[in-house]
Amino acid sequence: MKHATGHDDSESSRASAYLPTTPEGVGRLILRGARLIDGTGGEVVLDSEIEVDGARIVYAGPARRRAEPTDGVPDATVVDLTGKTILPGFIDAHVHLGLAVEDQPAEAARFESERVFRMGVRANQTLMAGVTTVRDLGGIDRGVRDAVEADLIRGPRMHIAVVPLSPTGGHTDFTLPNGRPVPMGLPMDPIIDTDDDVKRMVRLLIRGGADVIKVCTTGGVSSPTDTPDDIGVPEEHVRLIVAETAKRSRQPVAAHAQGTEGIKAAVRGGAASVEHGYGIDDEGIDLMLEHGTFLVPTLSSALRVPGPRDVPAYLYEKKVKWSAIARERVAAALDAGVRTALGTDAGVCPHGQNLREPVHAVELGLSPMEAIVAGTRNAAELLRLDADIGTLRSGRLADIIVVDFDPIADITPLADPDNVKAVLQGGALVKDREAWFPDPPARAQISY
Ligand SMILES: [Zn+2]
Repeated sequence: MKHATGHDDSESSRASAYLPTTPEGVGRLILRGARLIDGTGGEVVLDSEIEVDGARIVYAGPARRRAEPTDGVPDATVVDLTGKTILPGFIDAHVHLGLAVEDQPAEAARFESERVFRMGVRANQTLMAGVTTVRDLGGIDRGVRDAVEADLIRGPRMHIAVVPLSPTGGHTDFTLPNGRPVPMGLPMDPIIDTDDDVKRMVRLLIRGGADVIKVCTTGGVSSPTDTPDDIGVPEEHVRLIVAETAKRSRQPVAAHAQGTEGIKAAVRGGAASVEHGYGIDDEGIDLMLEHGTFLVPTLSSALRVPGPRDVPAYLYEKKVKWSAIARERVAAALDAGVRTALGTDAGVCPHGQNLREPVHAVELGLSPMEAIVAGTRNAAELLRLDADIGTLRSGRLADIIVVDFDPIADITPLADPDNVKAVLQGGALVKDREAWFPDPPARAQISY
């Protein structure tokens, strides 16, 4: 099986995805001796060397032999990471920093100022889990992304969808049957019914800084009034959105699609990714292979079934049913070699435990290497940022995590954020649990 990691490099990196910035490292850094998993799916390098200059990698590969580690780079800081493993910073292609599963009723009642601080904490937890880039698929505005870039909060690089689009009565229509709105704190009203609504919403989203357009082609599990089998945004509107973005910045279209028919509507309409994909049938798998559509299976949320008394009865029943469907059908899609990018739906599951996702992907049939590639290179391709992130090669940004185990032998320790010992983002050291890195210059960019 498996060609999930076999996508041809030459196709990658079209054009103009917005590259979110983060504070940059300073000076030269040489990381020596670690096992290197570079995100490409290629051979593990057992005794590696990575040289970082400022924000970017200038060398990544086998250790270079010379009399002194700094020969040729006299001003470099050398860090010995023998016995450790280096991987690319992971990319979680599906989060909601504006939501918290443990906190739903309280979230709506909060003052906006407190909500913003809480988002900052979640962003930080995500980064500390080893995720240096996220795609937020609904619920936050550009201010959160900008705050990371301005170093007001420390969090992952961010692509944002702002709000997910649905028809009236669809998955993200939060109006009650009596016509009163449920206060969700969304940046704008996400309802599209007509062609004109579709065009206007896409233009408003692009004006508002959306890096990705999210549509709901089906209902969902957590919503009380619709199900994954309900059709939401129809195929022709997906196609219209793809056409509208093609005139502009070519934002990828991400489709929340859980039931069998809505998944096919999303793929036929030209969505770049099927988010969730729980009920995909064999025809849907063939269509995804044919179109090169990514699957973002959000297993951290799909496989998480709360206790029967922890949630309303409708939700418990839906969770049990759709979790079993996902376990079987996502496994079939992975086995068929559908292009897979990892995403957790954090917000629907807890934040800061994002690297449970590759562990779940292995549970459902990927090899540890395939799961790592899905969370690094593949996700970077989905975000159209693969020229800059997702792999550890010369010229890429130095988004790097360090662990003290071999995830190819056993990937499960990745799930615990405490096992992600060090994180570099754009060459700046943002986590160093074991004090493996020397004091400045490696730490010089950390201002708080
Ligand atoms: Zn979601």
